[in-house]
Amino acid sequence: MSESAETPSSEVLAIDGPAGAGKSTIARRVADRLGWAYLDTGAMYRAVTREALDRGLEPGDAAAVAALASDLDLVLAPDGRVTVGGADVTARLRSPEVTEAVSTVAAIPAVRDVMVRHQRRFARENGRIVAEGRDIGTVVFPDARVKVWLDADPEERARRRLAETARAPGSDPADLQAMKARLERRDRLDSTRAVAPLKPADDARRINTTAMTPDEVVEAVLTTVQSALST
Ligand code: C5P
Repeated sequence: MSESAETPSSEVLAIDGPAGAGKSTIARRVADRLGWAYLDTGAMYRAVTREALDRGLEPGDAAAVAALASDLDLVLAPDGRVTVGGADVTARLRSPEVTEAVSTVAAIPAVRDVMVRHQRRFARENGRIVAEGRDIGTVVFPDARVKVWLDADPEERARRRLAETARAPGSDPADLQAMKARLERRDRLDSTRAVAPLKPADDARRINTTAMTPDEVVEAVLTTVQSALST
C-alpha cells in the first residue's frame, strides 16, 4: 500500500466522475444501503472556497487560501454535514459563487494536501466509507477495494444539475446551454490541473448513467461492490 490511506481494516468505495454525473445522489444512497459512512470530498473544497469568499480572499491567491485551508476547523460528519469552526455550513456550499470559484481553489496543491489528509483520517475513523469526488480512486485511496467512474452525456448532466439548482435558494434560473457551458468549464479546469486531475482510475468500473434511473445506478454500483468484496 502507498503512503496511504486506509488502515488495514478500512474498506473504501471510491466514486469519481465529472460534475452532474449523479455522484452525490448515488454515493449517499449506496452508503445508506451498505451502512457505510459517506464522504463528499467536493463539499470540503466548497467549504474552503466558501470561507475564502466570506473573508474576501481572491480564490487564486494560493498562499492566502492554502494558509486558510490549513487553519480551518473543518469537520465532515458521516452523514455528509459539514461544519467550519462548529457552525453548520452545509446549506451554503452550493451557491453559484462558490461553484464558480471552487475549481480555482481546488487546483492549489497545498489546499489538496490538507484535504487529502482530512479524507484519509475520515477513512481511519469510520472504517467503511463511500467517498466521492474527482481523485478518490487515483490519488486519495489508490488501494480502494472498489472504484467506480460515473459519467453521463453533457446535456443530461446539465439537465440534472438545472433541476437541482432550481430548488436551491439563491440560484439564478439558467437555461440548459448556459448550465452545460458552466459544467464543461469546471470539468476542463478540473481535468487539466497539474495536481490530481479529474480522470478515471485504470481499474475503475465505468458506468454511463445517461439512460439510467438513480435506482438502476444504485443497483449497478451495489453489484460491483458485492462482487469485489466476495473475491
Ligand atoms: O462534487 P462537487 O461538484 O461538489 O465538487 C466541487 C469541486 O471541488 C469540483 O469541481 C472540483 O474542482 C473540486 N473537487 C476536487 N477533488 C475532489 C472533489 C471535488 O478537486 N475529490
